[in-house]
Amino acid sequence: MKPARFDYHRARGVADVLGALADDPSGETKVLAGGQSLVTLMNLRLARPARLVDIGGLSELDRVFDDVDRVVLGALVRHRTLETDPLISTRLPLVAAAARHIGHVGIRNRGTVGGSLAHADPAAELPMAMVALGAVVHVESAARGRRPIPAERFFVSHFTTALAPDEIITWVEVPALRPGQGWGFVEYAPRHGDFATAGAGCVLTLDAGGRVSGIRAALLAAADRPLLVSVPDEVLGERPGERLWERLGRRWGRAPLGAEALAEALCAAHRRAVGEDA
Ligand SMILES: Cc1cc2nc3c(=O)[nH]c(=O)nc-3n(C[C@H](O)[C@H](O)[C@H](O)COP(=O)(O)OP(=O)(O)OC[C@H]3O[C@@H](n4cnc5c(N)ncnc54)[C@H](O)[C@@H]3O)c2cc1C
Repeated sequence: MKPARFDYHRARGVADVLGALADDPSGETKVLAGGQSLVTLMNLRLARPARLVDIGGLSELDRVFDDVDRVVLGALVRHRTLETDPLISTRLPLVAAAARHIGHVGIRNRGTVGGSLAHADPAAELPMAMVALGAVVHVESAARGRRPIPAERFFVSHFTTALAPDEIITWVEVPALRPGQGWGFVEYAPRHGDFATAGAGCVLTLDAGGRVSGIRAALLAAADRPLLVSVPDEVLGERPGERLWERLGRRWGRAPLGAEALAEALCAAHRRAVGEDA
């Protein structure tokens, strides 16, 4: 099928995009980034925006900044960059691993961080990774300027976010992996590149004695949005090991595949935290 008729505007800068969205209170103007989700929906006529503002060429949002304890990703950073950039593999290895599981390479060449987060598919890899890592999504509008939204509050329900119709995602601030931390990412999908049926991502922090001092984890395809798994304080100070991971998986992983994915991700995170696995 072909999309319904629409007007097309190639944005010249962030202010231009925000102006175009502010000028259309009907909310029928949509931002086009990599087009990998929106164009498919338009072709199926499940989305019928009256106007597209194409932000795909805005190089100012296609940048990565390394800061002391975090990495800041522009909304237009492609999945392929996340997968191949050595800085991302070193500082945000969970993000790099998640990106490798998105569709096929042609999709990853075009799809963007901002597009994936704004699309908010509960089975998508990047939204789950951002919740697991405690990322902050920075959004901007002409009327209200910038506001930061913690990832766990950004995702509201199936394909629904905290973005207002006149806002765009500009940057995503992601805490970098620290010494003493390990990460895990596990997903089950019919074939590599298919949307996942279950999956989990986590960051495990160990204290100087090798005991658990923090766990942050999230699940995909387990609810109407990426699900933050809150691990209670009673786990802190425990000795890490298979029995603990299985217990946490059973209790928080949502049976049965989510539980397995979570336990496996925690086990991988522990191996990495103690330097047994690259
Ligand atoms: C065959 C196929 C397989 C796929 N498999 C997977 C998969 O396994 N896992 C996965 O996670 N994804 C998968 N995808 C989707 C892919 O990751 C998309 O790239 C992503 O979901 C959307 O990114 P995009 O840049 O293409 O956004 P677009 O399609 O351009 O836009 C998507 C939505 O986000 C909005 N948007 C885009 N950028 C911004 C912004 N900066 N601020 C505010 N709103 C914005 C648009 O208005 C639109 O509503 C697949 C896609 C295809 C076609």
